[in-house]
Amino acid sequence: MAKGQEDDRFERNEESGAPREKQLHFIEQIIADDAKSGKFGGRVHTRFPPEPNGYLHIGHAKSICLNYAMATENNGLFNLRFDDTNPAKEETEYVESILADVRWLGADWQDRLCFASDYFQQMYDYAVDLIKKGKAYVCDMTAEEMSAARGTATEPGTPSPWRDRSVEENLDLFARMKAGEFPDGSKTLRAKIDMASPNFNMRDPVMYRIVNAEHHRTGSVWKIYPMYDWAHGLEDSIEGITHSICTLEFENHRPLYDWFLDQLGVYHPQQIEFARLNLTYTVMSKRKLLELVRGNYVSGWDDPRMPTICGLRRRGYTPESIRAFCKVIGVAKFNSTIDVTVLENAVREDLNKKALRRMGVLRPLKLVIDNYPEGETELLDAVNNPENPDDGVRQIPFSRVLYIERDDFMEDAPKKYFRLSPGREVRLRYAYFVTCDSCVKDKDGNVVEVHCHYDPATRGGDSPDGRKVRGTIHWVSAAHARNAEVRLYDRLFSVENPDSASNPLDYKDYLNPESLEIISDAKVEPCLAGEAAPAAAHFQFERIGYFYPDADSTADRPVFNRTVSLKDTWAKVAQKG
Ligand code: ATP
Ligand code: MG
Repeated sequence: MAKGQEDDRFERNEESGAPREKQLHFIEQIIADDAKSGKFGGRVHTRFPPEPNGYLHIGHAKSICLNYAMATENNGLFNLRFDDTNPAKEETEYVESILADVRWLGADWQDRLCFASDYFQQMYDYAVDLIKKGKAYVCDMTAEEMSAARGTATEPGTPSPWRDRSVEENLDLFARMKAGEFPDGSKTLRAKIDMASPNFNMRDPVMYRIVNAEHHRTGSVWKIYPMYDWAHGLEDSIEGITHSICTLEFENHRPLYDWFLDQLGVYHPQQIEFARLNLTYTVMSKRKLLELVRGNYVSGWDDPRMPTICGLRRRGYTPESIRAFCKVIGVAKFNSTIDVTVLENAVREDLNKKALRRMGVLRPLKLVIDNYPEGETELLDAVNNPENPDDGVRQIPFSRVLYIERDDFMEDAPKKYFRLSPGREVRLRYAYFVTCDSCVKDKDGNVVEVHCHYDPATRGGDSPDGRKVRGTIHWVSAAHARNAEVRLYDRLFSVENPDSASNPLDYKDYLNPESLEIISDAKVEPCLAGEAAPAAAHFQFERIGYFYPDADSTADRPVFNRTVSLKDTWAKVAQKG
């Protein structure tokens, strides 16, 4: 097998180089054990079950990658299922965005796009079955009464006065609930389990509630809607799911998941819980992300600072980088918080391989080469991607007046400053060695122009006499450069855990006021603007970072999002501090 195509199940033994069996994570282990024991007849069938009430975020990506990998690595199947059992909160906009995001991540559900709402009738029939078995009853308690009767951790709950209604009465009332005879909240259907169970989820949980609302797919047909715990296992069972993977907070719900399926005597998938993804400097709750969007704290769900899949995509993340991230962080059974630099490193690593190198100057300063002929332009070869020779070479125009980065000149420079300063020589990337002679200042003392002379013998950036320079700086030719807007992003929050209960303030009080910096007059190579400029290519602006054209870009005015800086600048800060 060629390198890079090795079987996923094997890793190289670092010492001997021999393949050894990969360390399985606990879900892979369960699936491997089930395959051995013949449980589920050796089948593997997973699903990703989003509720269409928001946009997907990087946490969902973890679940998508996990479910999809478990299916594909075991010759199994993967369903995308909308868990659309909650009429009031769901919108078609969310369905569309979720489809686009899952597709973009590369998880292929083939022809298995499912909607829980397609099973409403079947779920209803199952509920009737439970009533007939004496395992469910219609209860007239209000939500408040029910909650008051729930009991505590040390005391059992109080049974509902309606708990012992006859099967006939329950069937009649349930049918009338369905027919819309009762107002919202006036009745529920409850499972008859155990009001003294130490697990609150087993204290006669609600299965159906009355809601008079439009559903995005079933319209106003249904007046009763199933609760998550009742619906979810049935959805899994109906679809023939084998391993129903969910996050840890559902561990206490598993006895109920099992109880419903056992009482009905239907096909019974296995629920497995894993730890959800938490990231530093990030909030991951849909409710909070929605609040950021509605409150205009960000420009929308796809604001490049958002941890949403569409935000990451707009910022320039690749599906490969997100998948690599999900692999690196692994799957565990205890909650933890992943450092956001792990995500940033994943995209850096991927873009290092893919991004086309370009030159762009964010804070331009004029550099005049006094001994270069006026009016002359020459084309110099520049490598597109040193990581990938197939990307070839392009030609960039060079002339007497250039722009360099403001930071790359210092009038009174310390010894270790290896960039331009009077008397010092640097290499202009792909061009010539230049030596700084002087600078021009405005009346406020700001440097507005730097003058230098070049050595024509160093064309291409090499000196024939072996003379060394310590610094190489980037540049663009002033006459040929195109204006661009550049958006630099920093973390959306200024504290590691904006969500933590231990922080005294609301998470919104920790928003980083400097999370977006817009540079409106950057100068870039001519090939980055105009009709021929690629709309969706990843670029590395040399020495500055990885950039991706924003959706706001036009041929006349390109806009670039900085996906990530070249180095982890925060690591440097942490080391200093
Ligand atoms: P809520 O249920 O509060 O609306 P949710 O984030 O759980 O929010 P769902 O649409 O139910 O939203 O999530 C779909 C799937 O994604 C679920 O299986 C859920 O367990 C998983 N998931 C959600 N958040 C994370 C996360 N941070 N890490 C890993 N998986 C997650
Ligand atoms: Mg959920």
